[in-house]
Amino acid sequence: MQNCEVCSKEFNGAFFNSVDKLHSTAVKCINYFNIADYQHVCLKCSNQNYVDAQSRLTDRKEVLTKIIATSIDGVQILTNHSPFDWQYQSIGIVTAQTTVGTGVITEFTSGLRDIVGMGSNRINSKLANAEEICFAQLRVKALLLGANAVIATDIDYGDIGIKSTLMICAAGTAVKVTNTEVLLQPEKIFDYKEATKELQVLSEFNFFS
Ligand SMILES: [Zn+2]
Repeated sequence: MQNCEVCSKEFNGAFFNSVDKLHSTAVKCINYFNIADYQHVCLKCSNQNYVDAQSRLTDRKEVLTKIIATSIDGVQILTNHSPFDWQYQSIGIVTAQTTVGTGVITEFTSGLRDIVGMGSNRINSKLANAEEICFAQLRVKALLLGANAVIATDIDYGDIGIKSTLMICAAGTAVKVTNTEVLLQPEKIFDYKEATKELQVLSEFNFFS
């Protein structure tokens, strides 16, 4: 039989006054954040550390998610087919799509004023937003393929037969640039990789939060 390394009580499965062992994944998480260095500990003795580990895990995941969301911008998206000075390997095609409700664009009853006036600003910002969504998809897909940039990118707007709805598609070639000094923000791609790796490690503790 094992005993708790803090209170020395023996682990038992008794209904009353039971001494239960803290799950090994929770132990790993507490040790990972250097809150303690446990091997076999009971629930009572580890309670505060358990709570601390949970909150550290949640905080760290939030930080990493933010880093990942902002560092994907490091993946440049170009329309050029062979950017000057770039040495790269083509990895594969990446595509993205989203839809946007256009409202006034197809509603001719709204009149010209809406199209050239306030309405068009609203549409422009909607379209810009939709393009950003597509670019983010291209970037993430490129990173997942092990690429660090997207070239020969093409963006298309199409009617999908649903009233007042436009489909926006983007496609490009994901490439792995080897002379990374030509990239504008190669450090962001490094940050992305590090954050993704760490998040992967933390996912081992997922059930815990
Ligand atoms: Zn104990």
